[in-house]
Amino acid sequence: DPRIARISSAIRVIPDFPKPGIMFQDITTMLLDTKAFKDTIDLFVERYRDKNISVVAGVEARGFIFGPPIALAIGAKFVPMRKPNKLPGEVISEEYSLEYGTDKIEMHVGAVEAGERALVIDDLIATGGTLCAAVKLLERVGVNVVECACVIELLGLKGRERLGDRPLFVLVNAT
Ligand code: 5GP
Repeated sequence: DPRIARISSAIRVIPDFPKPGIMFQDITTMLLDTKAFKDTIDLFVERYRDKNISVVAGVEARGFIFGPPIALAIGAKFVPMRKPNKLPGEVISEEYSLEYGTDKIEMHVGAVEAGERALVIDDLIATGGTLCAAVKLLERVGVNVVECACVIELLGLKGRERLGDRPLFVLVNAT
């Protein structure tokens, strides 16, 4: 798809952020390019519009940028998957391992119902820990995760393997 090249070139790479040795994929420059941003949303909408998806679950923080416009366009609700202690209501949470230590994501109880069909979206998959925790949280309450989607996949960290059999759709590969 010719739109992919424009999206890819609108993503800025910042070396040594947030720490030395990390090549940070910065999607904020892509948001400034109105065509690239629209193409990104359109590509996801084209893929998911006829898949009977009732929930778009977006992972904090950048899943909150891409999730809502997709949800509105396909007629699904948007559910934020948040960092710990941010949601005011009753939550269920899923812990996942990081390079050093653990982290957690949370979702409001009652946001989704068993049997719903979900798309899980984030800007980027690296080790897959975050996305996998989001998927497990939804699956624990009986939601069928149809697919995970990211703008960028960092290759070489085996994030895709961590998701097991669950399909992952990405627009741009990076190393
Ligand atoms: P993972 O859990 O797959 O190792 O890391 C993915 C999470 O970290 C995502 O929520 C993503 O937003 C964030 N992340 C890690 N590295 C980068 C990066 O280079 N650029 C951006 N935009 N996000 C990153």
